[in-house]
Amino acid sequence: MAIDVLVVGSGYGGSVVAARLAPHARVVLVERGRWWRPGDFPETVSDLCRAYRSARNPRGLWSVQLGRGTGVGLASAVGGSSPINYGITSRPDDHAFATWPVSAAELAPWFERARAVLRPEPDPLADELGDRRFLDLVEPGRRVDLENTIDWRRCTRCGRCVPGCNVGAKRALDETYLELALRAGAELRAETEVRALVRRGDDGYAVEVRPTGGGAPEWLHARTVVLAAGTLGTLDLLRHAEVPVGPRFGQDISLNGDALAFLHDVPYPLSGHSGAPISTSVRIPFVGDDGHTRTLMVMSGRVPRTAMRFAAAALGVLGALRRFPTAGDAWRRRLHDLRTVDEGGALSRTFMYKLDGEDSARGVARFTARGAVVDWPDYADDPILHFADQRLRAWAEAVGGTVVPNVARLPGMRSFSVHPLGGCRMGATFEDGVVDDVGRVFAPSGGVHPGLRIADGSIVPTSLGVPPSWTIAALAERIADDLVRERAKEETR
Ligand SMILES: Cc1cc2nc3c(=O)[nH]c(=O)nc-3n(C[C@H](O)[C@H](O)[C@H](O)COP(=O)(O)OP(=O)(O)OC[C@H]3O[C@@H](n4cnc5c(N)ncnc54)[C@H](O)[C@@H]3O)c2cc1C
Ligand code: SF4
Repeated sequence: MAIDVLVVGSGYGGSVVAARLAPHARVVLVERGRWWRPGDFPETVSDLCRAYRSARNPRGLWSVQLGRGTGVGLASAVGGSSPINYGITSRPDDHAFATWPVSAAELAPWFERARAVLRPEPDPLADELGDRRFLDLVEPGRRVDLENTIDWRRCTRCGRCVPGCNVGAKRALDETYLELALRAGAELRAETEVRALVRRGDDGYAVEVRPTGGGAPEWLHARTVVLAAGTLGTLDLLRHAEVPVGPRFGQDISLNGDALAFLHDVPYPLSGHSGAPISTSVRIPFVGDDGHTRTLMVMSGRVPRTAMRFAAAALGVLGALRRFPTAGDAWRRRLHDLRTVDEGGALSRTFMYKLDGEDSARGVARFTARGAVVDWPDYADDPILHFADQRLRAWAEAVGGTVVPNVARLPGMRSFSVHPLGGCRMGATFEDGVVDDVGRVFAPSGGVHPGLRIADGSIVPTSLGVPPSWTIAALAERIADDLVRERAKEETR
């Protein structure tokens, strides 16, 4: 039987499209990653190394694509990046949509529709962590508490959301949209990689798939193909497809202002030692030289004990270099801090901050033998990251402690993002976008390529300044709705 809709990738874009189309059509969802269930996720550093995805380990869970000046972290799994993310479900400020071909008001109902399925909840114990009080102290009136796709009643606060919940408390896509898709009859082909896409005149597309890591190739035929392979995955597929696309292809890539910061040894009981998912933040407005308001989001986070020990060593050395203690007692305390994460040590007064912000989306895709990478040599100098530096230094000046405002600036480190967006941006025409506002791919002739859509992070035209999963799901809801209506029209013809 012919496939009506073939969806490539099972992340926030692909799962939504599969769930909404499956009641109306024969849907096949192709995902190169494997199922990862509670109990399968890496626990130790050696597990983490074993789970790295590479040519020798094609079924691995995570990987990094290094470009000039950037590294991008990716997941490859049923559910896309959802099994290994923090589940933060956050909506961008309205100004983030100012230059989009679809307005914040038009998108609002699709955000609500996605929220009803994702079911994020606020952390009932967040007040006990001390994060909120500290953020209120340094940024009064700017706190925005978060909601996560986590079942808090089951969460043990082990802090291991990245790289995956072995407790079964994380509500990843396999418990939400994917479950809906499968219940409605979508066929999931996991551990299957899409290799090529060829247009067959007016008769849809031929799609070459093969088992992840090798095996016999197979050609599938689908009337409609939805690319949802994640920002870099979709760029790779479209680059090799025999489909001419607009001049903005591979341009305007945002890293969403992603950065990591630490505030070490401040005179406030901030973190305690237990890990906990990121559950609170501040949103700080920043007006750039161009007069546009952008958002910097500083999210208060924790890391598990093992990682905390690593941080203890690094931050302890950094703190010691900055403020040489003279008395023997101070040295003894410093050494104690290097060895332990006990209550009372500097690390119980140390915070990790995950930054997201509206960057200027100047990343460019480069295609290598290992797949697409993002080049943006001066990303760390983007105005939003300079603003973040100043702001965090001001916090440290006000309260004391040692600040590392951007880990990427430390010797030997580089900028790193888990939120790459864009490269196939939505636009109004072939010249200024790769797709239109419902994910249809512009053709040079002036129309669109029939039967081909994109529904993932790659279509997001600007930086969002907040974690992107909810926005991607909302966009995919809107695209899926348009596809359902398109099919209904075709059937009545
Ligand atoms: C560690 C980490 C933490 C994060 N934390 C958060 C958070 O708390 N909140 C938030 O909102 N966002 C978070 N993000 C970002 C968020 O998860 C991503 O923005 C989102 O998952 C992107 O959705 P997507 O549908 O575009 O692609 P993805 O979720 O990346 O899904 C794409 C899927 O396509 C598959 N694929 C790729 N190529 C092929 C191919 N050729 N054939 C078949 N399958 C293919 C991939 O294996 C992958 O599973 C985090 C990301 C990471 C990595
Ligand atoms: S902190 Fe909670 S949701 Fe995160 S991995 Fe631990 S148990 Fe799971």
